Amino acid sequence: MKFVPEFKAPPGRDMSDLWFVFNKAKLLTRIENDRHRIPDGADLVAPRLEPVNEQYLGKLNGRCCYGATLRGENGCPDRFRFTDLRALIGLLTEDLIWIAGRANHLLFWHRIHRYCGRCGHRTKDKAEERALVCAKCGLVNYPRLSPAVIVAVTRGDRILLARNKRFRRPFYSVLAGFVEPGEDLEACVKREIREEAGIAVRNVRYFGSQPWPFPDSLMIGFTAEYAGGEITVDDVELTHADWFTRDNLPKIPPSLSIARQLIDAFANNQLNGAAL
Ligand SMILES: [Zn+2]
Repeated sequence: MKFVPEFKAPPGRDMSDLWFVFNKAKLLTRIENDRHRIPDGADLVAPRLEPVNEQYLGKLNGRCCYGATLRGENGCPDRFRFTDLRALIGLLTEDLIWIAGRANHLLFWHRIHRYCGRCGHRTKDKAEERALVCAKCGLVNYPRLSPAVIVAVTRGDRILLARNKRFRRPFYSVLAGFVEPGEDLEACVKREIREEAGIAVRNVRYFGSQPWPFPDSLMIGFTAEYAGGEITVDDVELTHADWFTRDNLPKIPPSLSIARQLIDAFANNQLNGAAL
């Protein structure tokens, strides 16, 4: 499938349009034969399915895609269900998950910028670009992105993995953290690994990136090599960290995440630049 992002919605609506409707972080799907399907324009004629706060996203194979919320929060009709977007990974195609993520990100931004941060007046959508503008003082707010680094640290034939307190499921992953103002990405990698695990790293190299719209991150992946120190867990974010070999990996995150791509690359001996 091919998704083309766009800002300006074409005039009119079509029954074949796809609607990514959210209630907070939960996505509306239509259940057919125990499978989840993204509602189309024809579905939205059902009672209690009136979309508001529309965000035009672009076209998937020529079909217009919209993000929206529902007027009122009175639940949804039979055959429809709201499900946490992350729980739908593996149940919807990857393209649909990422388009839904885009909708989730934009709707979250839109919801928390209804009032101007400078003067408190109501904001409104800007006509010519994706932004909210204050109707009184003119302050413009663009969709917020929170960049974070995520790092596979290797030491010979081992990789550093840790359990994070925020993980809802009992798995180990590579370390990650938000970029701070005034910091470049390489410095952020070194600071995060030092703060969270107490070790120094070198040879920081770019691996790849991935939107992480839960609700508004961009994950920037790196590899790095161990350079010194002993693991000392900060106890604020992590509960345990250790070095693991390929044949002794603990439970790791599901596919789709860049965390898993980094760990898979390590497991398949494909981490560029790592001292293996
Ligand atoms: Zn204002």
